[in-house]
Amino acid sequence: MRIRALFDHPAPVFSVEFFPPKTEIGERSLLRTVDQLRPLAPSFVSVTYGAGGSTREKTIEIVSRIKREHGLEAMAHLTCVGHDRDELAAILDRLAAAGIENVLPLRGDPPRGETTFVKPANGFGYASELAAFSKARGDTFCLAGGGYPEGHPECRDLERDVAHLRRKVDAGVEVVITQLFYDNRFYFDFVARARRAGITAPLLPGIMPITNVAQIERIAGLCGAHIPEPLRARMRAAEGDDQAVLQVGVDHALAQCRDLLAGGAPGIHFYTLNQSPATAAILGALRG
Ligand code: FAD
Repeated sequence: MRIRALFDHPAPVFSVEFFPPKTEIGERSLLRTVDQLRPLAPSFVSVTYGAGGSTREKTIEIVSRIKREHGLEAMAHLTCVGHDRDELAAILDRLAAAGIENVLPLRGDPPRGETTFVKPANGFGYASELAAFSKARGDTFCLAGGGYPEGHPECRDLERDVAHLRRKVDAGVEVVITQLFYDNRFYFDFVARARRAGITAPLLPGIMPITNVAQIERIAGLCGAHIPEPLRARMRAAEGDDQAVLQVGVDHALAQCRDLLAGGAPGIHFYTLNQSPATAAILGALRG
């Protein structure tokens, strides 16, 4: 099923995101997480694409297994990093052959230690180019795209960043999934900006429940996501007690999700970090 169709129904769309593990133990643990979340009926599952190396193959394998063996709708992420057009075409063909109908084309981040993204030879410099390339080869996939409520770190001019998002939508992106954020005002302002720019696609907010203080501060720093001071203070007070941190994370994320849905968000995309407890608690409460 193409995920765009999910947004034609009034029920919220709840999706979950995983990354391909590096080890067999990690893979078994991920598939257990998928099984633990399955009873909560996620609308679809997405699997990220690594910055390089062996996990890239795993994205195709895991996204296919989740669809085939776990019976869940699935979406593969794909980035422009390190690939020329022929390689990207071959990956898209393999995804299609595996029955995958949804792809999230991304530019990807500059490699570790580098600050600027360098377009690969005979490759692409922006997600919109990869989206257009996929569409020019046929209407095989429903395409999603990344959106940035606080602006992409390389484009802090919020209006310009949304103009770039508009290009992505014009290139064939039908669903926008946002970067994580901890203050809903950024999302609601982003929705208003996107609508003013003529973007009518569903804008699915991305939520990453806090489960580890140091980890979330690092990730939020990389993405440029602002952590509100009261939340930071609660996190720090709970630090050292895993259960207490989890509870702070679940309470904040659940309140965020309820407010987003009440404010018209079409659903929630959960960044699970391959762990089930926080997402299961939040999704269970939202479904209940
Ligand atoms: P783009 O949309 O191409 O934008 C990149 C930058 O270029 C932005 O600053 C934008 O404003 C600017 N820009 C865009 N078009 C133009 C133009 N025509 N002219 C000038 N400037 C332009 N990374 C991974 O490596 N693997 C993943 O699986 C992954 N999954 C993600 C999932 C989601 C939902 C999100 C939001 C991000 C994900 N990322 C992933 C991170 C992503 O790769 C980075 O945020 C990356 O830096 C930008 O990717 P993009 O596709 O949004 O880029």
